[in-house]
Amino acid sequence: MIAALPSSTDVLIVGAGIAGASLAAALAPHRGVVMIEAEDMPGRHATGRSAAFWHESYGGAGVQPLSAASFAVLDNPPPEFSDRGFLLPRTALTLGRHDEASAVDAFVAEFSAKDVDVTRLAGAQVARKIPGLRPEWTEAAYEPACRDIDVGALHAAYLRAARRAGATVVTRAPLTAARRAGDGWEVQTGAGTIRAALIVNAAGAWADEVAAACGVTPLGIRPLRRTVLQLRLGVPVPADLPLVVHVGSEFYFKGESEGRIWLSPHDETPSPACDAAPDEIDVALAIDRLQSVVDWPIAMVERKWAGLRSFAPDRMPVFGADGREPAFIWCAGQGGVGIQTAPAISALLAAELGAPAPYGAIGAIDPASFAPTRFA
Ligand SMILES: Cc1cc2nc3c(=O)[nH]c(=O)nc-3n(C[C@H](O)[C@H](O)[C@H](O)COP(=O)(O)OP(=O)(O)OC[C@H]3O[C@@H](n4cnc5c(N)ncnc54)[C@H](O)[C@@H]3O)c2cc1C
Repeated sequence: MIAALPSSTDVLIVGAGIAGASLAAALAPHRGVVMIEAEDMPGRHATGRSAAFWHESYGGAGVQPLSAASFAVLDNPPPEFSDRGFLLPRTALTLGRHDEASAVDAFVAEFSAKDVDVTRLAGAQVARKIPGLRPEWTEAAYEPACRDIDVGALHAAYLRAARRAGATVVTRAPLTAARRAGDGWEVQTGAGTIRAALIVNAAGAWADEVAAACGVTPLGIRPLRRTVLQLRLGVPVPADLPLVVHVGSEFYFKGESEGRIWLSPHDETPSPACDAAPDEIDVALAIDRLQSVVDWPIAMVERKWAGLRSFAPDRMPVFGADGREPAFIWCAGQGGVGIQTAPAISALLAAELGAPAPYGAIGAIDPASFAPTRFA
């Protein structure tokens, strides 16, 4: 049954992807929460299209503390949240050609300094990790702590926890306009009108559009398209193949099941906020790049999809109260790490909104470096 839109709430969260759902779960035990979603179900956009990995160094040193702080909740959640963890075994290799040795060295130095478990490999040590690797790929950094994330289960657990704590989730309810009324907001949606003390903008690729519809100055959040292919190979590449990420950002791939991989050309094509679809040129580019790395014959492109990763101008997540409009809260710009950072971002933002960390302490992260006021 589709929930009806209540007439008022403390906090109105716009967007029911992983950002909105994780925050709703954290806030709902303490505040009245309504979450509105434009689509007919939560998770249709970036959250439902990810490559589903937790990779501590991914996204750069600035977001690494958020990924690290999220690990415990993802790996071993408290029983009141989930009776099982959301992580599955994986490892990671950051890979370079012979002439990219110094880039791999710099990568290892940067993340070792942040206590990431990363080991420098070269030559035969690299070849042993990837069957069929072409000879020029001799440089790598190995991270044993990488994991796959069961994104569907994690998103569903957040939605379940939010509803159990009293949050209302209303689908087919796009925010179309909002204006200040008294102490809060009067919000028009596709499912009716609602009053709210606070609006949280967790609208992913639409974050700037939602801000504009509320009369708030957009921050310059840019959606960039990212393509992923599932390939069936003509060789039995093992399912536990590491996540292999090019040190120069030209591709990543990981084992999906025996003889199958997920592959991305690491594309970042500017896009309007939309239902993103893969472009054939990116599919071809992905395959071309893969074939320069390994000698695997490709039997079939079994699936392909694209999604929008959204970035603030400095490519760091943005969460916290807007600088000019304190009743408008941003939770956007998670780029390519929105799943693996959701536990930390939701806990930090909930704390800022007066709710204690929901599933244990999240560590000493200063949320100031992620505040929207840095763009003032
Ligand atoms: C191909 C790809 C691979 C990725 N791989 C990984 C990975 O391996 N690990 C990782 O951690 N991250 C990964 N990411 C990034 C991750 O998917 C995102 O950072 C994360 O899903 C963002 O979540 P979100 O809730 O902000 O956005 P979304 O999931 O897009 O949710 C935003 C929601 O807001 C709704 N909405 C928009 N406008 C309105 C409105 N006006 N009113 C109401 N609702 C509205 C939308 O319908 C949407 O459901 C990947 C992303 C892509 C595209």
